[in-house]
Parts: sequence; structure tokens; C-alpha cells
Amino acid sequence: MIIDCHTHLNRYSLSDPPTLRERYARLQGEMDENGVGYALVLSSYVVNDDRPSADELLELVDGNPRLGIVAGVDVPRLGADQIGRLSGLLRSGRIRALKLYPGYQPFFLTDSEVHPVYRLAAEFGVPVMIHTGDTYNPSARIKHAHPLQVDDLAVDFRDVTFIICHLGNPWFTDAMQVIYKNENVFGDISGFTLGEFQPRYERLALGKVNETAAFINDPCKLMFGTDWPISDIGSYVRFAERLEITTEEREGLMWRNAARVFGLGVEGADGRRV
Ligand SMILES: [Zn+2]
Repeated sequence: MIIDCHTHLNRYSLSDPPTLRERYARLQGEMDENGVGYALVLSSYVVNDDRPSADELLELVDGNPRLGIVAGVDVPRLGADQIGRLSGLLRSGRIRALKLYPGYQPFFLTDSEVHPVYRLAAEFGVPVMIHTGDTYNPSARIKHAHPLQVDDLAVDFRDVTFIICHLGNPWFTDAMQVIYKNENVFGDISGFTLGEFQPRYERLALGKVNETAAFINDPCKLMFGTDWPISDIGSYVRFAERLEITTEEREGLMWRNAARVFGLGVEGADGRRV
């Protein structure tokens, strides 16, 4: 069983299929080919021809039990309108989490203007996923994407679960400490590479994730995600297979933690619900 907790259906480059339906078909093909049973699709912080809204994604995957949707938040335009829309989506029970994109957007996670997002997450009991570290955009300002900020959120919003996406890459040390210290913080291992892993960088990333798992020493904290189509799913599954972690950590990483954190109600091969 594999859960990919971090995928997108945005069109990032001209080589991605132009229509949303084609990209959706491609994602399902990739899931089948690589043994991924369930995936979360994250909407962007902007909506345009290449980036569907959470509403469009919900309509697209309606009735598909293998896909869940996470709603991206556009923080600089976070007014009553957007809060109302997000609140409506959350009330429908069809959104699994909210996603923030600091770095891609110029704000600090601790800014008071972002607090309504954390209050929404607390009210509806959904996690907040947070982009951290390197960005796929040269005009981003990565000081906003440093994972150490998540510690402040974890302390100030104890009833909210936070997910440090990409383990803060390359600030792994900061991310691992914040995850280790805070009961309400988790990490996903997505987005370390463009396309397939190249051997030299794969060795580096394997070392970092092994180190993170050893330091945290808790099988319930890390989750498998790819960032597809930015990273290749097959290459990522092989990457995860090469990690030097315990059997319990592997099971947690590959599906059990995501099933629990996102409340997916997935049943394990052993019949235990998580
Ligand atoms: Zn992503």
C-alpha cells in the first residue's frame, strides 16, 4: 500500500498535457504503474488556465475513492471572500487539508494575516500543509520558506496539525528538530528532485532522509509524497525503497501516517484501521 500525499494537476511546462482531463488520466496511470493506491492533489495559490481551483479539482475527481483534494490558500488575497469560500469547502467535508505556499508568495507563516487559516484548520480539524525550502521558481524569496517558522505555529496553535512539506530542503536539520520537538508537526519527503533522481543527488537526499528518520526516531512522523508531476513517481518509489529505515518506519512513511493524519479511513493489509 502506498499513499502519495503530495501531487499536483497543474500544467507546469509545455510538455505537460494541456487539458486537466489528460493530466488527471496521466496521474491515474502513474498511480497504477507504481502501486500508489491513494493520492492527494494539492491546488495552487493561484487559479488560471494552467492551475485549477480546488472546486474544479473536486468536480474532476468526484466519486473517485483513490483521490483526495487539498485546497491551496492565496495568502496575499486572504479576505472575507476567500475565508468564506474555504470555510464552505471545508464544511462540505470534501477537503483533506489546506496548503500554504510561503516562498512562492511573500509572507511569513507567523504574520497575523495568516492566523485565520490556522483557526479554520482548528475549527474543521484538517491539517495545514506548508511549502518549505527550495522553490521551483527563481523569483521566489526563500527566506519566507524556512521551516524553523513552523515551530512558532506549532506552539501557538496546539490544536492544529502542521506538515512541513519537502522537509525544508535543504534546511533538513531545522525541519527535523521542529518535527521531533512538536507533537503536532509532521513532514513529507516530496519534491526533492526535478523528474527522476540523478545518482549523486539521490545519495545526498537518501542520507538526509535517513538522518532525519534516525534523529526523529518516531515511526509516526514522516509521510511519502512525490510532488508529481515535478518529481517522477516511479523514481520516488525506488528512492523510498532505498531508505535505511525500520519496517515500522517504512509502513508509517508509505501509508499509515498519511491515512491517520489526513483521516483517510484507509485500512491496512493487516486489517487494522488507522
Ligand atoms: Zn508541491
